[in-house]
Amino acid sequence: MRIVMKFGGVSVKDGKNILHCANLVKKFSEGNEIVVVVSAMSGVTDALIKAANKCYAEPSAGYIKMFIAEMMKKHYEAIEYAVRNEEIKAKVISTTERLLDELEKVLRGISYLGELTRRSEDYIVSFGERLIAPILSATLLSIGVDSVALTGGDAGILTDKNYGRAKPIPGVYNTIKSRLEPLLTIKKTVPVVTGFIGAADDGSITTLGRGGSDFTATILAAALDADEVWLWKEVDGIMTCDPKYVPNAKVIPEISYQEAMELSHFGAKILHPRALEPVMRKNIPVRIKNTFNPDSPGTVIGSRTEETTDIVKALSLIANAGIVNVSGAGFDFAEIMSEVFRRLADEKVNVIMVAQSSSELNLSIVVDSRDLEKAYRTLKSLENGTIMVDKISDVAVISAVGSGMAGTPGVAGKIFSALGRNKINVIMISQSCSEYNVSFVVNSNDGVNAVRVVHDEFHLGN
Ligand code: ASP
Ligand code: MG
Repeated sequence: MRIVMKFGGVSVKDGKNILHCANLVKKFSEGNEIVVVVSAMSGVTDALIKAANKCYAEPSAGYIKMFIAEMMKKHYEAIEYAVRNEEIKAKVISTTERLLDELEKVLRGISYLGELTRRSEDYIVSFGERLIAPILSATLLSIGVDSVALTGGDAGILTDKNYGRAKPIPGVYNTIKSRLEPLLTIKKTVPVVTGFIGAADDGSITTLGRGGSDFTATILAAALDADEVWLWKEVDGIMTCDPKYVPNAKVIPEISYQEAMELSHFGAKILHPRALEPVMRKNIPVRIKNTFNPDSPGTVIGSRTEETTDIVKALSLIANAGIVNVSGAGFDFAEIMSEVFRRLADEKVNVIMVAQSSSELNLSIVVDSRDLEKAYRTLKSLENGTIMVDKISDVAVISAVGSGMAGTPGVAGKIFSALGRNKINVIMISQSCSEYNVSFVVNSNDGVNAVRVVHDEFHLGN
């Protein structure tokens, strides 16, 4: 089998975990062709973003020195533990030093210029992945698995210049295939590719959006016609609900692409929202597996499961959201709608859900609570006597997802009667024509209770 495997976050938190991941690759490389995708050690991407902004806002040479020393310590300790061959270790240490030296120079540059563009921010965050890939690759070498480290650009992930949220350009699959396939079939080596980052046509580094390593893995899989993608996480798979909210939630063995996409849109932090696009078209199954429980089968995301008839399969809860309401009379509704969404897009506000009353007098937009002020401010300036804008904070969004909901009467009735019986007030409701999900908004105090009530109603738990 040809498998693209992705590791990241806690799975590569320290040297011990990195060695563990390398041993997993070794175990599965027996008789299989493996491509590894790796994302930054846990906490590193956030730390890099913070450092970039700090260097720009309050430049300080002392801070840069301290930050580089911290990064050095974290990666050196990992190398020290995971790479147990002196020659290989010396090589990867010199690569690490070179990268950290480069990072220090970039941070200094930001401080001197007092300028931080989205392009330079992408360049800075790319160091998280660029530091870890050679370390994981060296770890593989040191346990006897032939391996080579590549950046996303080396691997052929060429993107547009939409820094921070770049998309692969057309034709990218051919480039990737021509660069990676010979490594698998002729050199019989395990490429370790940096997740999350690509390159624009001028050679500048781009990133695919937070959590983008999943996307890297599926792009590579589609390009290489892989048999499967394995996303190694710290959980046994996709669950019927976050066990933090619903303690009897259980792992879902199979789920369709569509259902998984709906869930990730509604806050279940399973996948990068675009990660399934490349594999869906080629029908490549994606397995979610637990790094720390590798023998558990996990969850398979794929099209075979499209026919399942589970009415409600899983629930997600976005615990902190807010609503902006645009209302009024006597204006061209379509025109206002387009202006509203254009402004939200310009401000990079992530719209979670929308509802509109059919009298055309009210448009309710649900956004993440972190975006609420920004969304409210940018829409408030539309007020002109006929249009009014107000906001509601502290709400929760619950989404019930399942492909069997399409064409099954009574699902919404069942959800809302259960909520009614439990005296939970529903503020807003939305269901799109795809009928893959029913979403509703309640007061944030009712969020956890609401999700539990619906979970019980459909007997989703253990
Ligand atoms: N390291 C990147 C991030 O934290 C990409 C990823 O984790 O997939 O967003
Ligand atoms: Mg990360």
